[in-house]
Amino acid sequence: MCGIVGYIGKEKAEPILINGLYKLEYRGYDSAGIATLENSEIKCIKRKGRVKNLLLDEEIEQLNGNIGIAHTRWATHGKPSNENAHPQLNNDKTIAVVHNGIIENFKNLKEFLKEEGYEFYSQTDTEIIPNLLDYYYKKELKKNNNNDDNKLTIFRKAIIATLKDLKGSYAIEIITKDITDTVFVLRKASPIVLGSGKNGNYIGSDVSPLLGEVDKFYVLEDDEIAEITKDSIRFFDKEYIEKEKKDTKFNLSAESVEKNGYEDYMLKEI
Ligand code: GLU
Repeated sequence: MCGIVGYIGKEKAEPILINGLYKLEYRGYDSAGIATLENSEIKCIKRKGRVKNLLLDEEIEQLNGNIGIAHTRWATHGKPSNENAHPQLNNDKTIAVVHNGIIENFKNLKEFLKEEGYEFYSQTDTEIIPNLLDYYYKKELKKNNNNDDNKLTIFRKAIIATLKDLKGSYAIEIITKDITDTVFVLRKASPIVLGSGKNGNYIGSDVSPLLGEVDKFYVLEDDEIAEITKDSIRFFDKEYIEKEKKDTKFNLSAESVEKNGYEDYMLKEI
């Protein structure tokens, strides 16, 4: 289990993401990390330990992007460490991914990617995801004679191909330096909720980071893909056919969700 947060809107993403991570820390707290997009560059800060450790990094306040993803981890593959913390990036550091779940066939996919020249810096199952996206993205670009006029279409093809390869459970958020206005979200058998509000659009493993911020909630189902920009949330099936989706009503206050009646998170967890 782990906690995932995402934001895109008119505010600075970093404090919103940190705040969201605190709310999801009950889901995992062996390491935490955040990645934002700014001037077509991914900036990533991650650390072993609890969310508050991220604030020890003085550079965190210099993350000025309005779009970002974040993660608080409960390790399944690879010990708690800075390298194994999420976000995990591709070798070129152009794609960042946070993941809740387990990629069961990651060893085979890692072998395949190694043969293709990719290197791995963590023991996580997750690290294959940004590299697989990179592999298929570059392959599609090549088919297009490296004409990257339609990077979104090409990246969508990379997502379709990557999804076909993944076996296991996942809630995944992706940002890429080639598409600076979108967070991509994928899901199979791990929870993820999206919401739209007047200051932007939010993503969370549960509703707690969204409460008080959004007017509409959308629960992503298995095999659905979402694309979130600052003023839209669009839904697709796993073949990238767009679909309509109704919002879900939640009658919850921020307070009731956060501690669920308990004095603190430890008691709630016990
Ligand atoms: N399997 C991933 C890892 O170990 C994600 C674990 C989680 O859901 O926190 O890094």
